[in-house]
Amino acid sequence: GKPKIGDIHNDIDAALMLLRNKLAKNITVSKKYGDKIPEIAALHGQINQVFTNIIANAIQAMENGGKITITTKLVHKEERDYVSISIKDTGAGMSESVKAKIFEPFFTTKDIGEGTGLGLSISYGIIRNHKGTIEVFSEIGKGTEFVICLPVGIE
Ligand code: ADP
Ligand code: MG
Repeated sequence: GKPKIGDIHNDIDAALMLLRNKLAKNITVSKKYGDKIPEIAALHGQINQVFTNIIANAIQAMENGGKITITTKLVHKEERDYVSISIKDTGAGMSESVKAKIFEPFFTTKDIGEGTGLGLSISYGIIRNHKGTIEVFSEIGKGTEFVICLPVGIE
């Protein structure tokens, strides 16, 4: 399909809706959506899949509950405007050696049947195809943050 102009918050909300049963009572979601975030041209079905993958991972990293904070901002870098989306959890975090491999296809630390190791490699490809960036920050025992930037104004 062709990219369509749309509100990124709809894609995040659709992912949260899809995962509502897995967002057990002991996980709180805090949405900090920025004002005046421009709509972006994207394959919103694919972008929605990226948010679903990342939020599902966050849920799996918080077996004893916790908090997911989702923040959107308009940022300017390298002479372009981007919508930045941060998805932060208070889960188990990951070691440097795990962090180095998470975007590789079939890399998983989960048991058979719980993870295929494809979610983040697919997400990486989707973000790259949208000329965006995806970064990860993580600390063992504290949690993990994924930051996605998607360019504004590319048709
Ligand atoms: P899968 O979820 O099937 O294992 P992914 O590609 O989605 O595959 O993730 C790869 C690996 O990255 C996971 O197995 C896990 O070790 C790590 N990971 C991803 N997201 C998180 C997170 N929010 N907290 C801790 N570890 C994570
Ligand atoms: Mg996954």
